[in-house]
Amino acid sequence: MATSEQLHKRRLSAVAKGVGSVVDAYVDHAAGGTLTDVDGREWIDFASGIAVTSVGNAAPAVVAAVREQVERFTHTCFMVAPYESYVAVCERLIELTPGRFEKRAALFNSGAEAVENAVKIARHATGRQAVVVFDHAYHGRTNLTMALTAKNMPYKHRFGPFAPEVYRAPVSYPLRDGGLTGAEAARRAIDVIEKQVGGSNVAAVLIEPIQGEGGFVVPAKGFLPALAAWAKANGAVFIADEIQTGFARTGQWFASEDEGLEPDLITTAKGMGGGLPIAGVTGRAELMDAVHAGGLGGTYGGNPIACAAALAAIETMRMLDLNAAARRIETTIRAALTDVDQGIAEVRGRGAMLAIELVLPGGEPDPTRTAAVSRRCHEAGLLTLTCGTYGNVLRFLPPLVIGDAELERGLGILRRALHT
Ligand SMILES: *Cc1c(COP(=O)(O)O)cnc(C)c1O
Repeated sequence: MATSEQLHKRRLSAVAKGVGSVVDAYVDHAAGGTLTDVDGREWIDFASGIAVTSVGNAAPAVVAAVREQVERFTHTCFMVAPYESYVAVCERLIELTPGRFEKRAALFNSGAEAVENAVKIARHATGRQAVVVFDHAYHGRTNLTMALTAKNMPYKHRFGPFAPEVYRAPVSYPLRDGGLTGAEAARRAIDVIEKQVGGSNVAAVLIEPIQGEGGFVVPAKGFLPALAAWAKANGAVFIADEIQTGFARTGQWFASEDEGLEPDLITTAKGMGGGLPIAGVTGRAELMDAVHAGGLGGTYGGNPIACAAALAAIETMRMLDLNAAARRIETTIRAALTDVDQGIAEVRGRGAMLAIELVLPGGEPDPTRTAAVSRRCHEAGLLTLTCGTYGNVLRFLPPLVIGDAELERGLGILRRALHT
């Protein structure tokens, strides 16, 4: 079998350089919270393929469901010849998402595609064009979602021109906005929206309840409800992008539930598919059904194999109570990071979506140390990811089924990497 080194050589002359990887180890197999590379080295997984394998890698129920489906039929295109599992995934989405109102759902392949479609639906339903997004936001890498995403490098640099009618407002970032309350931060954002866009032009206010790639920024309490209330008062659609936060990751089915939010539309992807590519837009029936027949879709959206995987993943989350597991993981990780040094400005996040922000003595971001800690984790066999506009946030996204021993072992590696 080829070694990682050999595979890496082949990669350099075959795979475009623009596609990066966090580590140079090539995966052979994975299970639960562990990856094993082709050199036989084990990695503790604090990445979950970016918050995807919440039910564990190659989760038995997902594997069985995929196997059963792939033998029955692989693809018909739901727009050509429909099948039950697509309907069943939509039923699960309607049931699990917050919002005590009549809902509909539609399925797509990726998070970016779900966000694009949520914007399409909001624009169609309102007859308006402007979309309000926030500082540090991440919504994807397609043309529209690049415009919605805040950070230039690496996501947008030299990839313009970007889609028009996208407006950016300041977010609530308690560590870096002087500790504004949620209400104050919302007032500041609403001021920008009203002055620079005009309430009657806004089709949608689109926000991650906890920012993902932007640095696991948790807004101050009250920020999200104030924005949602403003959207409602102004006839704009409030869209929660729960692609990273959704499906038990934060210890609830959706992070919006934490403040009793009932978003008009919710985008989901990542964890919902148990490792297969699937995404959804779920929300108010009158918005979703406003679009003319044939206006939404795509060849692979809600592919039967991905739907089978999603149904099995969601059932696994329910059976194993992975919401409770996420909350237990939070307790364990926070306990391991209590005696951290002053270089760590904050441990933040919710459930199994936690991060530390590393700073220099004056409070300036410290991306150099962040990269060094990350490298030391990788050298010791712990797969971690960084994030944040300033590249100074280390984030932890273990599979929710990670064993206590694996979690403790991973945290031991992390603590040593932080203290050297
Ligand atoms: C990952 C992510 C996306 C994009 O999803 P893809 O499947 O990579 O297209 C959009 N929004 C949020 C919040 C994400 O974390």
